[in-house]
Amino acid sequence: MSPILPVKSLFKRRQFLQLSLFASTLGLSLACAENRAQSSPQKVLVIGAGIAGLAAARELQGQGFQVTVLEGRDRIGGRIHTSRTLGFPVDLGASWIHGITDNPIATLAKAWQIPILPTDFDNIILYNNQGNPMSDRDFEVSYALYEEIRDRAASIAENSEQDLSLGAALQQVLAAQTLTPQQAQLIEWGFNSEFVTEFGADLESLSSWYVDEGSEFDGGDYLFPQGYDQIITRLANNLEIQLQQKVTEIRYSSSGVSVTTERESFTADAAILTLPVGVLKSGTIQFSPELPKHKQAAITRLNMGLLNKVIFKFSEQFWSQDYQRLGYLHENSPDFYEFLNGSFYSKNPVLIAFIGGSFAREIEQLSEEKIRERVLRVLRRSYGDRIPEPESMMVTRWSQDPFAFGSYSHIAVGGESSDRDILAEPIGDRLFFAGEATSRDYPATVHGAYLSGIREAKRLVKR
Ligand SMILES: Cc1cc2nc3c(=O)[nH]c(=O)nc-3n(C[C@H](O)[C@H](O)[C@H](O)COP(=O)(O)OP(=O)(O)OC[C@H]3O[C@@H](n4cnc5c(N)ncnc54)[C@H](O)[C@@H]3O)c2cc1C
Repeated sequence: MSPILPVKSLFKRRQFLQLSLFASTLGLSLACAENRAQSSPQKVLVIGAGIAGLAAARELQGQGFQVTVLEGRDRIGGRIHTSRTLGFPVDLGASWIHGITDNPIATLAKAWQIPILPTDFDNIILYNNQGNPMSDRDFEVSYALYEEIRDRAASIAENSEQDLSLGAALQQVLAAQTLTPQQAQLIEWGFNSEFVTEFGADLESLSSWYVDEGSEFDGGDYLFPQGYDQIITRLANNLEIQLQQKVTEIRYSSSGVSVTTERESFTADAAILTLPVGVLKSGTIQFSPELPKHKQAAITRLNMGLLNKVIFKFSEQFWSQDYQRLGYLHENSPDFYEFLNGSFYSKNPVLIAFIGGSFAREIEQLSEEKIRERVLRVLRRSYGDRIPEPESMMVTRWSQDPFAFGSYSHIAVGGESSDRDILAEPIGDRLFFAGEATSRDYPATVHGAYLSGIREAKRLVKR
């Protein structure tokens, strides 16, 4: 994630101490401490075969634990999902390693000799609302204005006594600003590209104080031309993974954990849960006893964003190969602002639209045919009415996915980054929590999820 609002210093100043909350919750902690003296967990269930679960399971198995991974879907990988139904690999979930320097995913790719390719997000052609390419000069001038407005919104947020949504801060700047229609459209495009698509959330929901939470690796963004799932397959090697085991109930006590799926029950000394926040929020899993109130409150405050992709394969390439991204300004928004030139990476004539927030939610409700028409309407503006119909297409609908209920987590107004720590707190020595949403340093990313799995495996071993 790469938002650049300079709000981090403020965010640090406003952190509230929440650690003491956990210590005072379940009396279970004490009971477990007594029990720990007698026996340490040997048999562990890991719930979820996404990257966090696989990382945790590998780490534990390496330490001599007996590990079973329970996965609800009929495949592994979770929000890393490479489809080959179009005849070539398409990543429907995560695509990029964000920053390859010291990134553990880049290290795995290197060790396993999995090819990766750099992406240059600045290599973009931007079309105005008539479908004409903007000149470099026009783009630079307008983009400088976008940056100025964004930074003023950040400054308003920083000086505010209470957390404002990014949208509210922006409105305050725009109220004192006169813009030409094209400038207004470019500013909308910029915010959409940098925030709405990035976080999968509308500006009106995103917290301006926490939008810059977390850290980043340097080294640029790289993707897997042959699919992200190559990492998943290698990680899963030699692990015991049971597919189609949708967990419905988790019971825990000082003596152990019992997990019920739609098909059977499993017992273990401890469990590592890597369930997406969307699933935890959905109430589809019953906890007995209930999760501690402050953990439940953190789950309620953490938001699940939505990023979707619409993938088109054409019979021929009608767009320029000179650019990796195509951007569109619109008179009536929201609309499709952003396409990735897939042929840059796959040698197939492929365009991938990225949409986020409530627009993505709205588009999810439409049939493929209607979505195709909407996208083609945008493309025809710049490439003419004679562009071919796509040969095939795919649409992701992550918010309707019962094993995710969205794409990744973010902090909305009313939440705090410390909610991630609360979510990550173990319950006694029995339940441990991993997954991207528990990563305060690298939320909403593959590497954050991966590191969270290792973190919880190590924590379990230590206890
Ligand atoms: C469209 C999209 C694009 C993205 N792009 C990027 C990107 O380019 N780079 C990047 O770093 N990150 C990206 N991400 C984020 C990244 O994919 C996630 O942060 C990461 O994969 C999360 O891993 P995880 O193990 O925490 O969760 P998951 O991968 O969701 O794993 C959780 C597992 O739990 C399973 N599960 C859920 N409910 C149950 C149940 N009841 N019983 C049993 N199993 C259950 C799920 O099926 C899943 O396999 C993207 C995500 C999406 C959706």
